[in-house]
Amino acid sequence: MRLFCSFLLFISALAAESADWIWTGRYVVTMDPQRRVIENGAIAIRGERILAAGPKSEIEQRYQARQRLDRPDAIVAPGLIDTHTHAAMSLFRGIADDLRLQEWLERYIFPAEARNVTPEFVRWGTRLGCLEMMLSGTTTYTDMYYFEDVVAEASKEAGMRGMLGETIIGFPSPDAKTPADALAFADRFLTRFHDDPLIVPAVAPHAIYTNSDETLQACRALANRHGAPLVIHLSETKHENDESMAKRKMTPTQALDALGVFNGRTVAAHAVWVDEADLAILKSRGVGIAHCPSSNMKLASGIAPVTRMLALDLAVGLGPDGPAGSNNDFNMFEEMDLAAKLQKVTTGDPRNLPAEMAVEMATIRGARALGMEKEIGSLESGKRADLISIRLDRPNAVPLYNVYSQMVYALKGSDVQDVMVNGRLLVKDAQALTFNAAQIEAKAEQYRHQVQESLH
Ligand SMILES: [Zn+2]
Repeated sequence: MRLFCSFLLFISALAAESADWIWTGRYVVTMDPQRRVIENGAIAIRGERILAAGPKSEIEQRYQARQRLDRPDAIVAPGLIDTHTHAAMSLFRGIADDLRLQEWLERYIFPAEARNVTPEFVRWGTRLGCLEMMLSGTTTYTDMYYFEDVVAEASKEAGMRGMLGETIIGFPSPDAKTPADALAFADRFLTRFHDDPLIVPAVAPHAIYTNSDETLQACRALANRHGAPLVIHLSETKHENDESMAKRKMTPTQALDALGVFNGRTVAAHAVWVDEADLAILKSRGVGIAHCPSSNMKLASGIAPVTRMLALDLAVGLGPDGPAGSNNDFNMFEEMDLAAKLQKVTTGDPRNLPAEMAVEMATIRGARALGMEKEIGSLESGKRADLISIRLDRPNAVPLYNVYSQMVYALKGSDVQDVMVNGRLLVKDAQALTFNAAQIEAKAEQYRHQVQESLH
């Protein structure tokens, strides 16, 4: 018997370990702690997780895979992490542009939302958003909207990972007459998606200026009761800060901290108008920041002090924000490019926010902003299998001297070729496998007619 066991051990040592997938690429950009970029690299995957990342020869020797994806002329990288958006608003894309925020909201968005936003609208809008996101390399996104349960259903259909926040706002919304209704809705939502492999449900008080202090505190309490994160817009405009100073003699960051809103896992979007004291609070409370360069530029909100945030080692990720007027798309490649350039122009120093840091913000630092860095954000053994390949056989991709520079300043979302989330292939050869793209695009045009009619 003992001899037999030793024999079995001997045989299994000879045989390669089984894997579900091996991906190979010309460069594997791991974003691991050593920042390894492996030329002729490979990734082995089993189930939902990465087994190993390493040189192709080593991985192939060690693992026997059921399926392979060989991309000899592509970068294999961690999936991109969007830390702030509103997916379903894709159906309002371009409804009104080049307006002041207040006019845009009051004349277009609020009436259009009041007349059109139903669960079915949110389902199709989220499908459209997820389709665009996955095709451009986003594997995790952070959402704030209404009917967030439907957002979660559509995300799971897509196969995307999402931190999804049910919006709490101090006036009647499409899914709640009062903030108390919205909190009750959020409570049910958090219970339903607790422990989901793809969804991290969250509470999303819209902002300090659209909620009462009591509601903000109730949001924090609800999130903590469920062990869930809280996501919020913070100091997006100078107006928001001026109003807070006039009313409370405190900045929005100071006021939210005084209310205890940061006492738990938090992701704050924008943080454009934050001073040194605010940054010290955000750092000490471990608040993740979603920097949204396209949105801040398009709405003329200002430039977030990201260079300073990075010097303090804050967890700053990137987000496209709204598809309906504050950006109009979900392209994380554009956000990397703009984040890098915006810091150069505002500090007058082109060395600030280098390409490698922009990639870091779109991957592992973004994961840190969401409090998910142990699960996603890099290609390492034990992490979730969320990865993408980006083709290098196009004019804008050659010659290649530095992979990070190429990813940030030359490659486009449309160069993304394959996308996997949680071990499931969602995109192959730039085609969505989980969604019927033509059907979703046709539906979006149908909704355009309905929305236009509703505004007459
Ligand atoms: Zn937003």
